[in-house]
Amino acid sequence: MFNKILIANRGEIAVRIIRCCKELGIGSVAVYSEADREAMHTRLADEAVCIGPAASAQSYLNIAAVMSAAELTDVQAIHPGYGFLAENAEFADIVIESGYTWIGPSPESMRTMGDKVTAKQKMKEAGVPLVPGSAGAVHDAEEAKHIAREAGFPVIIKASAGGGGRGMQVVHSEGALPGAFNKCQSEAAAAFGDDTVFIEKFLEEPRHIEVQVLGDTHGNLVHLFERECSMQRNNQKVLEEAPSPFVDAKTRQILCEAGVAAASAVNYVGAGTIEFLMNPDKSFYFIEMNTRIQVEHPVTEWITGVDLVEWQVRVAAGEKLAFTQEKIKKKGHAIECRINAEHPFKFTPSPGTIALYHAPGGRSVRVDAAIYTGYQVPPHYDSMIGKIITHARDRQKCIRRMQRAIDELAIIGITTNRELHERLLANAAFQKGDFNIHFLENWLKQMHL
Ligand code: ADP
Repeated sequence: MFNKILIANRGEIAVRIIRCCKELGIGSVAVYSEADREAMHTRLADEAVCIGPAASAQSYLNIAAVMSAAELTDVQAIHPGYGFLAENAEFADIVIESGYTWIGPSPESMRTMGDKVTAKQKMKEAGVPLVPGSAGAVHDAEEAKHIAREAGFPVIIKASAGGGGRGMQVVHSEGALPGAFNKCQSEAAAAFGDDTVFIEKFLEEPRHIEVQVLGDTHGNLVHLFERECSMQRNNQKVLEEAPSPFVDAKTRQILCEAGVAAASAVNYVGAGTIEFLMNPDKSFYFIEMNTRIQVEHPVTEWITGVDLVEWQVRVAAGEKLAFTQEKIKKKGHAIECRINAEHPFKFTPSPGTIALYHAPGGRSVRVDAAIYTGYQVPPHYDSMIGKIITHARDRQKCIRRMQRAIDELAIIGITTNRELHERLLANAAFQKGDFNIHFLENWLKQMHL
């Protein structure tokens, strides 16, 4: 096992990893920007190194600065968290070439899955269902027309190198196709330095359902069931749960096996997630794999009892998974609400000083946050400041527990999305599990909020 790990991240995920290190008796090194001197992760870690100014490009995305901090503190391994450098294969290469252990999958699996066209080809070979559309890259508007006619409108044009909900164009008619195609191509070139695009049928009422996997370096690979993340705004998740209220036992088995097949195809090591879209008839299609820990991992941890971050570290240290697929059981239901420093309905960021913070507690309530009374939420980073997770015997009880927890939460001084969660949890369609990925945005439109 490692003596000391550097955490190349900030916010609640850095705190989550530091806590894990402490429980495993491993030293922790935080890196922080000038805006994060008083941040929770900076304070909680055993050591902390300033890596640059507030702007992420000069600090949390600055590979040279992160590597200097690793050398200065003499760590053995680097955990990238999520976001920032977590899916940057070049960074993983540098970490490994510099003699440190990368707490994540091989750079090769990251590269394969990071390029959507390559990933889809690999998934096709592995027999994982794909959204109907182009077999690979689409080169011009003529070819695009051909494929769109075959798949049927609406279609979605996507950048192969895209991510974070960027680099996508939905097209409803043939007339709009050439313009959208050219736009997507030039935006992809500008944003990702790669103008490769492809086409998929645009599914109109899908649910976002993903499978958690965990692999070791000894050839073992298991799934830890699914999560449902259909509650989204601007392609960003707001509330997640496990298991999905929509997935029955038979579908679950096929879905999770597809997840394992997808991960096996790239010899996956560590914690990863295969994202699928599921139609109302329960047919499902691979959309992408996230080669890192995800924000919503606690809901899976709660229903399975497996500590995913601990296993990321153990697997990176060469340990074998201590459980086989048959040993992993799910129990009850878990929900996560992301707490964001933003307007609850307009989603505009609301940084500032937290005059008072009171966290909920009690039975089966988990709070993964990076805030405290007096903390100044900086304006430079993602608006998510924490997460509340609840667990209960069944979904209904879990919703009630979350309502109770959100009711107890007090964050004074800045605007948060607390009211969005209050309303959502009380919504009849949400309570029935009757929704798809467009639910939240349509509902907000109807309420004129
Ligand atoms: P990113 O890498 O940017 O997250 P994804 O391919 O995972 O891109 O897609 C992000 C979101 O876009 C999905 O969660 C879904 O809401 C929507 N989406 C992507 N592909 C399709 C599709 N073929 N049909 C309908 N919606 C889609």
